Amino acid sequence: MSLSNDFYTKAKDLIPGGVDSPVRAFGAVGGDPLFFEKAKGAYLTSVDGDEYLDFVLSWGPAVLGHAHPEVVEAVKKQADAAFSFGMSCPLEYELAKLMSETIKGLEMVRFVSSGTEATMSAIRLARGATGKDQFIKFEGCYHGHSDGLLVKAGSGVSTFGTASSAGVPEGYTATTRTAIYNDLESVETILRDGQTAAIILEPVAGNMGLIPGDKDFILGLRRLCDQYEALLIFDEVMCAFRVHEKTAADLYGVTPDLFCFGKVIGGGLPVGAFGGRKDIMLNLAPLGPVYQAGTLSGNPLAMAAGIKNLEVFLRDKVWEKTNQLGQYLNDRVQKIIEGRSDVCFNQLGSMFTLFFKGSLPKNMDEVGECDFDRFGRFFQFALKNHILLPPSQYEANFLSSAHTEKDLDHYLSTLEQFLKEDQ
Ligand SMILES: *Cc1c(COP(=O)(O)O)cnc(C)c1O
Repeated sequence: MSLSNDFYTKAKDLIPGGVDSPVRAFGAVGGDPLFFEKAKGAYLTSVDGDEYLDFVLSWGPAVLGHAHPEVVEAVKKQADAAFSFGMSCPLEYELAKLMSETIKGLEMVRFVSSGTEATMSAIRLARGATGKDQFIKFEGCYHGHSDGLLVKAGSGVSTFGTASSAGVPEGYTATTRTAIYNDLESVETILRDGQTAAIILEPVAGNMGLIPGDKDFILGLRRLCDQYEALLIFDEVMCAFRVHEKTAADLYGVTPDLFCFGKVIGGGLPVGAFGGRKDIMLNLAPLGPVYQAGTLSGNPLAMAAGIKNLEVFLRDKVWEKTNQLGQYLNDRVQKIIEGRSDVCFNQLGSMFTLFFKGSLPKNMDEVGECDFDRFGRFFQFALKNHILLPPSQYEANFLSSAHTEKDLDHYLSTLEQFLKEDQ
């Protein structure tokens, strides 16, 4: 029995499913989850001392690889000074300044402690600022686990959503409308009643595997929002600094009214943020009527990690490196799978997904056509070869500047071997 197994068995007694976030339980791929004790660069070390090449990267934050020395140093230095004030500190201003100077359209920003809080607060703000209640989300886009956002499409197109979790009262999802990703018509159908406060989306979706929004779709959403006086919210918690040197907004040349951030901007510590147009942000308490708060919001340790992570990312032109690695991988995977009708591969910047399906999906329904059992077998095969993939077909893979071409060659030969053996 491995130590991982041992911890898992013990943890299940005290923590539901043994995990603090469901995907970690490996439910979609079978087998027992691993427990880890160290992370450095592109590698994780399990409690059993096994090393794994990591394509999860804490679900995105570790864009410089794990434990980048300068980030570690910044956190240590801050730990000596203070963990938390519960009052304001200059680091909040510093990260806000760095982000607003870097990101076009981010005139003001407020920090929270998770992506979930960022999207939840952005929706409340949009409602408060527009005086309208409804908002539109897309099936397959994930925006954290707040009640109104845990919604799947009801029967038929553009219906009122139904909760995708027990414990969410009908009333909480009654103002959430769901549309189809990359399908403008499904959006306009909903907008026509004039009740929509905002449209929230991942402009490049990473929570149904990697599916970039079509350019026409993203441009069309901006146009429709202007036409129907709804706010456009880009949830860039995952895709910022991964699909472009800056944001997906820059990638498309579209400026949303509000952004949501998380993951990379916290460098692995709990940070989220939302922000955008100043006239909208001024509606937030203490200035305006929209309440929003957090005991640990703007936490100095988390701010210190986020500032350094982003500074190094920009200073060292990390985007160029991760994007080049992404292309290196893409070129070679495409050669391996050329002519096959059972698998396809999508890559953008430092995100990628191998879909066990013949053609690239454009929306959630099409991802549903993947061979999920086969994905599970690939996950296990990779794990045996000391590669940790995100344990679900619905999750994107990530690259960091700590990954090397040699690391990617290991992924490539593992994939090639798998496709040969698993007919
Ligand atoms: C991860 C994620 C969230 C939720 O962030 P948490 O920090 O897990 O609460 C929200 N939106 C997107 C696009 C994400 O990828």
